[in-house]
Amino acid sequence: MVKLQKGLVHVYTGNGKGKTTAAVGLGVRAYGRGFKILMIQFLKGADSGEIIALERFSPDLIIKRDKQSSKFTWNMNDEEKDEAKAAAGKLLSQAIIEAKSAKWDMLILDEIFAAISTGFIDKQEVIDFILNKPDKLEVVLTGRNVPEDIIEIADYVSEINSVKHPFDKGINARIGIES
Ligand code: ATP
Ligand code: MG
Repeated sequence: MVKLQKGLVHVYTGNGKGKTTAAVGLGVRAYGRGFKILMIQFLKGADSGEIIALERFSPDLIIKRDKQSSKFTWNMNDEEKDEAKAAAGKLLSQAIIEAKSAKWDMLILDEIFAAISTGFIDKQEVIDFILNKPDKLEVVLTGRNVPEDIIEIADYVSEINSVKHPFDKGINARIGIES
């Protein structure tokens, strides 16, 4: 650990654009100061530019994610849901083990609130992890619909509100911007 300061807990939530990119930006800033960063992305569909870009930061910044799924959870059949749930549970267990290994200074759990609200991972497990996290570990959580009890235990809570988004005019995800 290069960090001497106590690690705090961040939440990026809300229905506007910028939660994942804020977490990636924070990871890049931390990397610049010599932190070791583990970023876990839950419920990921298509590839996204940050996965490719951040490969250049390996092994001091590593991204792990679910096996790619082309489906949104609400389009999954029961078998696909069970698979996605098992994968998300495995990712969370890995994250907890890695975080406790003292190898990392920052842990980013991207879309963790979506994984909680779909019932793929247990909210209480996440809360217990946060409450018992290594003292110096900085933890960053993102996603819409943050549970109230996670707001209570977080130190930074930023809610990004969508005022306008081109999707509302029918413009789909653009490469390098949304993906
Ligand atoms: P980004 O990854 O661009 O920082 P995000 O993490 O805040 O966005 P998510 O809630 O993870 O956004 O949404 C996933 C996708 O939906 C992203 O491609 C994102 O750009 C896009 N998106 C975000 N906000 C909106 C919105 N208000 N309307 C439509 N699409 C959105
Ligand atoms: Mg996101």
